[in-house]
Amino acid sequence: MIIGIDDTDSNEGMCTTYLGALLLEELQEYGNIETLPILVRLNPTIPYKTRGNAAVALKLKTDCPEKVIAHVTSRIEELARMECEKTNPGAVFIQEKDYERLRPVLMSFLEDAVKEVIEIETAKDLISKLGIASKGYKNGRGLIGALAACGAMLNPEGWDFTFEHLAYRQKERWGTQRSVDKESFFEADRETYPKTWDTVDLTNRLVVCVPHSADPVLFGIRGESPEIVNKAASFIRAEPVERFAVFRTNQGTDMHLLPAQNIAEIRDMHSYRLEGQVSAAPETLEGGHVIFAIRDREGGEIDCAAFEPTKNFRSLIRKLVPGDLVLLSGSVTSGTLNIEKIEIKALAPVYREENPECPVCGKHMKSAGQGQGFRCKKCETHSLSKVRFETERNLEPGLYEVPPCARRHLAKPLAREKRRDIKLHPAR
Ligand code: ATP
Repeated sequence: MIIGIDDTDSNEGMCTTYLGALLLEELQEYGNIETLPILVRLNPTIPYKTRGNAAVALKLKTDCPEKVIAHVTSRIEELARMECEKTNPGAVFIQEKDYERLRPVLMSFLEDAVKEVIEIETAKDLISKLGIASKGYKNGRGLIGALAACGAMLNPEGWDFTFEHLAYRQKERWGTQRSVDKESFFEADRETYPKTWDTVDLTNRLVVCVPHSADPVLFGIRGESPEIVNKAASFIRAEPVERFAVFRTNQGTDMHLLPAQNIAEIRDMHSYRLEGQVSAAPETLEGGHVIFAIRDREGGEIDCAAFEPTKNFRSLIRKLVPGDLVLLSGSVTSGTLNIEKIEIKALAPVYREENPECPVCGKHMKSAGQGQGFRCKKCETHSLSKVRFETERNLEPGLYEVPPCARRHLAKPLAREKRRDIKLHPAR
């Protein structure tokens, strides 16, 4: 049986992955857990999300599905933050006999949930059309994520995946400041990067895998395999861990990006890979956000932003000039593309002009008056116009990313990039 769950937390606490980790242990009473649990990140622009738009799925071999359903629903009722307006839990249960039949439909539903905006009714209609056992609470929006997580579990090799070791706090500590030895995260990173990533941000000297919110997560280490994330976690010195779970996830895969043919097709609340030429030079706005525009071949234009939290990435963006050819990855909200990665494909030439040199004495000539060119008074030489030199750009073509402290869950870090055709500039 596959169990998908979503939307149990609020800003004040809980986390759907924690419920997943608890159930992983508790459901062993009713059968055998067959494989690693799934943690999927869905469309990052969805306004209903609490934090990272996550949903989870578990897979269990069981002879008593009814008991499993009763246990899962009672735990959701107990633990979900129902009082929060944004918390609308959903759970779906898929029987083994239905795996083949549901695999293609739910795999495609997962793709849509990561890339598109789905109506609650679409999820409810699908559930009733396909005859899936489910339980939705309040408006039932969590059914969307729950179905999508099942899609991922039904086809675990059908998408690019990574792993995360999530360690959880003891309940009595929830909501208090986390007690961790920061240096141990830098050690874990030194021992396991680039097979793990986003544990720390070296440039900004930050530990980035420890949240600051009231949820039960102590830290989460992301990497290429269960072994490597567990190895990295073994270096961590911190307050006691109540439990941990390793999830298979679509984090760090760029699964959310749609290839955009042109700017006209771009819609808010979607994420794209988009090519264009810089058409308006970067400007720094109040608050430190850096904005510029790109134009495509058809003349469409869009604003692109490196917001303040992207820190040092903004100094790279400020070096762009009109005419540079770039390929951007990022999400679009309010008509602005929030940059996650930039491939600088070609640099426009930038010129500086100087007064010509006198061919006799070698000194720079002076203006001979409006529209009269230049002259060297001493040697009585003349020249009609200024001389143009191409200047060095102090910017190299290649692929750049925002620093780990500003990374979106779904964005593929350069640590995972296998491309050889372009220079990679990983942010560390
Ligand atoms: P949690 O830890 O509880 O999962 P979260 O930050 O992941 O917190 P949720 O509380 O799950 O956010 O809220 C996201 C809501 O948006 C869920 O109800 C989910 O079903 C729904 N949702 C996810 N993807 C989409 C989508 N593509 N279109 C519409 N709704 C979506």
